[in-house]
Amino acid sequence: MSKRANYKLLKSIYLDYHATTPADSRVANLILHYMTEEFGNANSIDHAIGDHAEAAMQGATRHVANLVGAFPRDIIFTSGSTEGINLAIQGTVNSLALLSRFERGIGGESKPRIAISTVEHKAVLDTCEVLRKQGRIDLVTISVDSQARIDLAQLEKTCASGIHLLCVMAANNEVGTIYPIEKISAIAQSYNVPFFCDATQAVGKIPIHFQDWGITLLALSAHKLYGPKGVGALVVRKGYPLEPLFYGGGQQRGLRPGTLNVPGIVGLGEACRLRQLEMADDEPAIAAKRDRLQAHLVKAIPGLVINGDTHNRLAGNLHISVPDVPNSAVIARVRHQLAISTGSACSSGVETPSHVLTAMGLPEDVIEGSLRISLGKFATDDEIEEAASILISTVSKIRELL
Ligand code: PLP
Repeated sequence: MSKRANYKLLKSIYLDYHATTPADSRVANLILHYMTEEFGNANSIDHAIGDHAEAAMQGATRHVANLVGAFPRDIIFTSGSTEGINLAIQGTVNSLALLSRFERGIGGESKPRIAISTVEHKAVLDTCEVLRKQGRIDLVTISVDSQARIDLAQLEKTCASGIHLLCVMAANNEVGTIYPIEKISAIAQSYNVPFFCDATQAVGKIPIHFQDWGITLLALSAHKLYGPKGVGALVVRKGYPLEPLFYGGGQQRGLRPGTLNVPGIVGLGEACRLRQLEMADDEPAIAAKRDRLQAHLVKAIPGLVINGDTHNRLAGNLHISVPDVPNSAVIARVRHQLAISTGSACSSGVETPSHVLTAMGLPEDVIEGSLRISLGKFATDDEIEEAASILISTVSKIRELL
């Protein structure tokens, strides 16, 4: 039984699970234990306290590997997905650069070509953009439709044209659209293209089979699956050439050196173990709550638009637009009662329209009136009812003023 998180103390209804999740108290208790009792350095080989930390780390490695269908040897712990993404992309580019500056090109090109979808997270977009600006890669983009679904024909053509890395996320962090990762991986494999999947929003919510689907690299993050912030993993297929981002004590095969964050890693492992056990029950229950909230809002707010692929989205995702009501006006009124967002956590506060909604080609008023609501396993039926009535009355009050 998962215990409720204590965020109720903040007297706010938390519906921003795509930004972060409260840690499961079973995870938090284990982390505390590994900070205060079994606090050893996993690389201290001269005493039993180090052995305990090492054993805990190995256990966590198995739990992470099990959840994504990988081998324990494939798991490299990181500080989260931003680092995992940078390691995957920069590590690939640095490795190619080391291999040979002139011999690696396809069709005589000298720079690696990287393909990304237009709705990737900023960690992917900005990493690639910097590499492009530095003149180190050529960047190819693959477009999406108005529901953020990827154009598979364009993806295949891109792979056929010769690329060195394909980056497509498993599920979108704004509109929740789920991507056909097994299919995409098969296309990439048929053209011998390494495939990096940012699965940050998908792991622990939908099944992922790293090994069976032939994925090359996959990033995940503990704080999206009821684990702690600041820890994650990059899953790396055996034999894939990757250069580290930094150098040091040689931990984790030298790919990510530095003293291991044992409490965080144990927390990530426990979060993964619990997701594996509980995901199949939790996710349909979350989807049912999301559907009820959606039905309330659709019924009471004329003109409300649901964004994303409603037939294939994350269970907890509800991305709406009220085209004649600016999202900033809603947020300003509800921010102390209701935790929802205008976009991804990293871009909120920045006055630029969401690149995801722009890539989907949504009209300006739909973008300006958009709100991301995201549910997780601690959201209660009462909270859903209350959130619906807060949103309905807020929109109606704003409409009266406009
Ligand atoms: N990728 C996606 C799809 C995300 O949603 C996020 C977090 O919002 C990240 C990457 C970055 O993850 P982290 O916070 O672990 O660095």
